[in-house]
Amino acid sequence: MERAITPEKRDDDLQFDATLRPRTLQDYIGQEKIRENLKLFIDAAKGRSEALDHVLLYGPPGLGKTTLANIIACEMGVNIKSTSGPVIERPGDLAAILTNLEPHDVLFIDEIHRLSHVVEEILYPAMEDFQLDIIIGQGPSARSIKLDLPRFTLVGATTRAGLLSSPLRDRFGVISRLEFYTHDELAFIVTRSARILGMAIDKEGALELARRSRGTPRIANRLLRRVRDYAQVRADGAITLRVVQETLRLLEIDEMGFDQMDRMILLTIIDKFGGGPVGLDTIGAAIGEESDTIEDVYEPFLIQNGFLNRTPRGRVATPAAYQHFGRLTPERPQGSLF
Ligand code: ADP
Repeated sequence: MERAITPEKRDDDLQFDATLRPRTLQDYIGQEKIRENLKLFIDAAKGRSEALDHVLLYGPPGLGKTTLANIIACEMGVNIKSTSGPVIERPGDLAAILTNLEPHDVLFIDEIHRLSHVVEEILYPAMEDFQLDIIIGQGPSARSIKLDLPRFTLVGATTRAGLLSSPLRDRFGVISRLEFYTHDELAFIVTRSARILGMAIDKEGALELARRSRGTPRIANRLLRRVRDYAQVRADGAITLRVVQETLRLLEIDEMGFDQMDRMILLTIIDKFGGGPVGLDTIGAAIGEESDTIEDVYEPFLIQNGFLNRTPRGRVATPAAYQHFGRLTPERPQGSLF
């Protein structure tokens, strides 16, 4: 299904993302704690003329992990090489990347939880001792060689830190979880983006857009694009509260920022499974979506905002979800969740 608000990267985002991406920690909005920590660690590493410790960033898609990786490189004054877990198929692929790094460079691996086991094993000594252990040749003539690597900083990003093996996780000196953004922060982000794109947006319009962006900058920026189209064609180019409301009505995004998929997930639990508990795979099968995608992309926001609960026996729709859809909350036996 074509969704306006999926927080995952899409091809048409790439150029847009690059234009709107903040380049320095100063321009990076929100995530105060992470920013403060990184500033400290970066200043200290630079003061000692060392590479920054390896950094693991985790959290739902679209919250600014790639942006932060680029900012780290920029603030350290080094190059960044970007790749992702599924792209590095063989140990040789990773070896080629590692041996091409300059001292203190940043290597950014997105979706690091999807690295294969054999590739991951190459990464351990590379991260810890800046050494590459590779086997060349096959059969009886195969031999293992060790290569020294320049000191580099690995920045790993993942939507699910829980899927990382512990030897890999333990090799990161800094582990930071990105949080959803507040409405004020998102309003600031869309106002900044509008300015970069040369558009006028008023305060109410920016806040409304922020409220419907599921706490996610990528969604906020993407909705801004749709709103810009509407303002250009149906209004006089300026983005106001009415323009935002009309655009989002056309996109069927409600006042909580839910779109069809969110509604489908919650209504399936409520209507087909009596409010739950119901297993993620069952929900996935009922709505035709991968359970991994539901878990990584959709449910974090629903859980954080109190519409969905994760229990040992499966997902449960909360009273807030019933209320949102104007349904009566079912009577629950004593000792149940609520
Ligand atoms: P992730 O890697 O977590 O999926 P990205 O770093 O690609 O997310 O962020 C998506 C887009 O959101 C970026 O292009 C950027 O424009 C915007 N963005 C993310 N975080 C921030 C932030 N803190 N301040 C301003 N814009 C942000």
